[in-house]
Amino acid sequence: METREIIQKFALLNALRYGGKAQSKPVLGKLLSECPHLRGRIKEVTSLIDEVVQELNKLSLEKQRKLVEEKWPEALVSEKVEEERVLPPLPNVEKYKRVVTRFSPNPDFVLHLGSARAIILSHEYARMYDGHFFLRFEDTDPKTKKPRLQFYDSIREDLTWLGCKWDAEFIQSDRLEIYYEHAERILKDGRAYVCVCKREDFQEKVRAKQPCPCRDLVPKENLLRWKGMLDGTYGEGEAVVRIKTDLNHPNPAVRDWPALRIIDTEKYPHPRVGSEYRVWPLYNFACGVDDHLMGVTHVIRGKEHLTNQARQEYMYQHFGWKYPETIHYGRLKITGASLSKSVILQGLRDGLFKHWDDPRLATLAALRRRGITPEAVRRLIFDVGPKTADVVLSWENLYAYNRKVIDPAANRYFFVRDPRKLTVKNVPHPFTAQVPLHPDYPERGSRSYKIEPMNGEASFLVSSDDRDLLKTGRKVRLMELFNLQVEKVEKTSIQAFFHSESYEEAKKLGAPLIHWIPMNRGIPCEVVMPDASAANGVAEEACKTLSPNEIIQFERFGFVRIDKVNKELTVYFACR
Ligand SMILES: [Zn+2]
Repeated sequence: METREIIQKFALLNALRYGGKAQSKPVLGKLLSECPHLRGRIKEVTSLIDEVVQELNKLSLEKQRKLVEEKWPEALVSEKVEEERVLPPLPNVEKYKRVVTRFSPNPDFVLHLGSARAIILSHEYARMYDGHFFLRFEDTDPKTKKPRLQFYDSIREDLTWLGCKWDAEFIQSDRLEIYYEHAERILKDGRAYVCVCKREDFQEKVRAKQPCPCRDLVPKENLLRWKGMLDGTYGEGEAVVRIKTDLNHPNPAVRDWPALRIIDTEKYPHPRVGSEYRVWPLYNFACGVDDHLMGVTHVIRGKEHLTNQARQEYMYQHFGWKYPETIHYGRLKITGASLSKSVILQGLRDGLFKHWDDPRLATLAALRRRGITPEAVRRLIFDVGPKTADVVLSWENLYAYNRKVIDPAANRYFFVRDPRKLTVKNVPHPFTAQVPLHPDYPERGSRSYKIEPMNGEASFLVSSDDRDLLKTGRKVRLMELFNLQVEKVEKTSIQAFFHSESYEEAKKLGAPLIHWIPMNRGIPCEVVMPDASAANGVAEEACKTLSPNEIIQFERFGFVRIDKVNKELTVYFACR
């Protein structure tokens, strides 16, 4: 294809994306990444692009689309595939006035990649149907799954990071009176009872599909016992409210499940409401009541909740409510990273992991710190979708998505790991290297390093990783600078002499390109690697002006996120 024709194609595709008006800059970027040989002719190419863009922008959107359809139909298809990844439709949407979904974590832990699935799917479905997405903290177990104040905030932070804005927030520890009212109501109706049996005695009965003696008490008696639960007549473990179910249900864990119990909050105070309440709803009761009261229409969660659905459906029958639609997806695993709360907690206790955001963990905090973008997580979750089969992913899968997102955005810099000194003799004159921040986006500018030889000698730092390229007699090109030939290799230093200047010459010689830093012009840099080890070296001077959270690419090394910039640079390795 002729250059002009390629420009037309990119300009038209750009126009289609932006309502019929193409812009020159992105067209230039696309063109240069497809035809790198044009990089030396930017001025000429730019004016040609301007001309084509002006011409094409005069056409109607319809005409533009027609042109693409005639000449490059395949381009149209691939654009669509890239952009429109849609989730399968939700069931029975037409039955509801408005789709309502929720994400309901217990704030006793940080969120990880597994939680991201529930969040992103629930949020995206609400958006797809112009519905509502709620955040609900399920913090009703101050004893064994004790919530912590820091996690309410970290969860909000994680959702915000993922771009999943919630329309309303609820906290169950604010709603105990509501659960009490509902408990009273079904006790009154005889659909639940207060069981004061020993746990073992009850379990023995229920396994034999037999009622315990409490089950047949009249409501009046149950309400008295209920009062006793609230006023302290019963102590922790002495009484529970049970929901009546079919005692023949095939799963014994469903039969007459516990709905509310007593927790000694003098001993185990709740981080938000202290010792104010002693009767606490269990998961299924609080969640079931809330889903109904909040108008949740579609519950999207892991298939480990199927038994909970069976339990809750009895309660919904008793109240005369309609159970929401449910979508149960399979497990998500990531090889090489534990998503198990207990394993992570143990690792933290043992000092194996330093913090929640240790780079070896797949917590959202860790991903964020490493420079894995929320967009990459979203794309991954979108592609996995809500399917019921278990999914095993590798870090590499996530990296592939991340690379796609950050590669065009990340500016490039030089980082020399484990530096060695390279001295080049016979440098004929001063050189100025203009290294573009991103070769596909010349408009972003470049960094410039002036090399002024002293008595024909110039010194650089190069990476030990390039030791195989820098053997005696070998020729290499210092990127964007000049070509040299290695003369002598010593333990920590390399002697070389100037060979030639042009890139064409390097190509002819088959000289590999290596990156470099002018001697005494860098900033010490520590890279925290995915296995929590550190790679130490020197980053080029231009990195001093970067700010925390920026994601950049160290050329020939990998993408990193800037963590701290002081006299030294600390960065986290994201992916290759
Ligand atoms: Zn009983």
